[in-house]
Amino acid sequence: MNTNTLQRSYEVRTYGCQMNVHDSERLAGILEDAGYVVGEAGSSDVIVFNTCAVRENADNKLYGNLGMLLPKKTENPNLQIAVGGCLAQKDRDTILKKAPWVDVVFGTHNIGSLPALLERARHNEQAAIEIVESLETFPSNLPTKRDSTYAAWVSISVGCNNTCTFCIVPSLRGKERDRRPGEILAEIEALVADGVIEITLLGQNVNTYGVEFGDKGAFAKLLRACGLIDGLERVRFTSPHPAAFTDDVIEAMAETPNVMPSLHMPLQSGSDRILKEMRRSYRSEKFLGIIDRVRDAIPDAAITTDIIVGFPGETEEDFLETMRVAESSRFAAAYTFQYSIRPGTPAATMPNQVPKEIVQERFERLIASLNHIAWKENEAMIGKRVEVLVANEGRKDAATLRMSGRSRCNRLVHFTVPQGAAAPRPGDIVEVTVTEAAPYHLIADPASVEEYAMRRTRAGDAWDRAEAASCSVPPPAPSGKKVLSLTPKTTPIDFELDD
Ligand code: SF4
Repeated sequence: MNTNTLQRSYEVRTYGCQMNVHDSERLAGILEDAGYVVGEAGSSDVIVFNTCAVRENADNKLYGNLGMLLPKKTENPNLQIAVGGCLAQKDRDTILKKAPWVDVVFGTHNIGSLPALLERARHNEQAAIEIVESLETFPSNLPTKRDSTYAAWVSISVGCNNTCTFCIVPSLRGKERDRRPGEILAEIEALVADGVIEITLLGQNVNTYGVEFGDKGAFAKLLRACGLIDGLERVRFTSPHPAAFTDDVIEAMAETPNVMPSLHMPLQSGSDRILKEMRRSYRSEKFLGIIDRVRDAIPDAAITTDIIVGFPGETEEDFLETMRVAESSRFAAAYTFQYSIRPGTPAATMPNQVPKEIVQERFERLIASLNHIAWKENEAMIGKRVEVLVANEGRKDAATLRMSGRSRCNRLVHFTVPQGAAAPRPGDIVEVTVTEAAPYHLIADPASVEEYAMRRTRAGDAWDRAEAASCSVPPPAPSGKKVLSLTPKTTPIDFELDD
């Protein structure tokens, strides 16, 4: 531990995608490893912005937020402000030109340097900026501080070899770098030993995993290898690319009991002409074919997606194609985006940018259709038993006296604990029958104790231990399965490694 920090406090403000959320867990872990302690929002000694360059107006929002910190910084020169992530990688010294009160700027490839940069800036009394062009250490090899005791992200690759014309990721995160399977599996085993029962494998294109070490079947093998980890109850992944989606992945999903029946696969557009302009090498029929084969193999799979409305040159006919594919796909949910210019991407300078009011009108039509589809899909769940991994997710839980969690197919479920039944802890698993459906959540209100089942899990024990540690109460004795060895096991799945 670095004692020079004298227990300075920190907070990390995260923008953007899951990759950033995961990086922020690493940033917190790195800072705590260096002796920092978590601070109160708004009054910490160090404020770290983990930025995103993909979302609309990301730069305006960042500079607005930095501007709001200027009076604080003037009042308290000991406050340090650090800016990292995709926008820092892209804007580099522009950040210091626009906000000279920022102390540290670091990129996506060197998040491990943050404590050293903070110290350098403090010592030299001037801003420290360090952006490197290629990955120094795989983020998952850095210390981490996880938000959840029962679920964790596991990064399997970073970067992307595609060149979608709307996307800034390849130029900021670089070419795909794959982590070795043994390292990934060892991390998962360590997480499971710590109480985690759900993991999500994370990468820009999870299903091209293996391209770097020359094993085309590596992603399916990784899913099957996850199936052999004792104590790991739920495996998810995000996101696969439709162009690279192969049947061995569908088979592995269907045949590996702990791989959950959910699939998030970005459509982006249903128009083949627009997909070509986006430089996405699949076409709508291929996308729908994958969905059919997934549903044939895993009938209860819930499929979610990302869609962009108003890409340059999108006509009404193109948009209707998106509506058609969305309807045929029966998405359980979709993240929809209105196209907006991202400087530095090929699409930014394309002719025929679609006027804002047309984009808005199409967007509203698409949302209405998606909501209707999602609601119908959820209504089909009424009367079905669902297994819910209990989380702290429901914003209205205190008001409704319900608890919340995710079903195996990743639907948000709000449920009541019947009178006389034991309440679960976050990380425990309940089984309930769905009684009501809304477009984006399910309700399960058991009429009696008999309709409700609860299983205490190691993840719930881990939550108890974390709670006890935070208020210095001795943790209760563990229940359920015994803790696994931390020693990485050799996987019996054979990956083909180039070197
Ligand atoms: S696949 Fe396309 S959208 Fe996804 S990260 Fe790569 S370039 Fe960006």
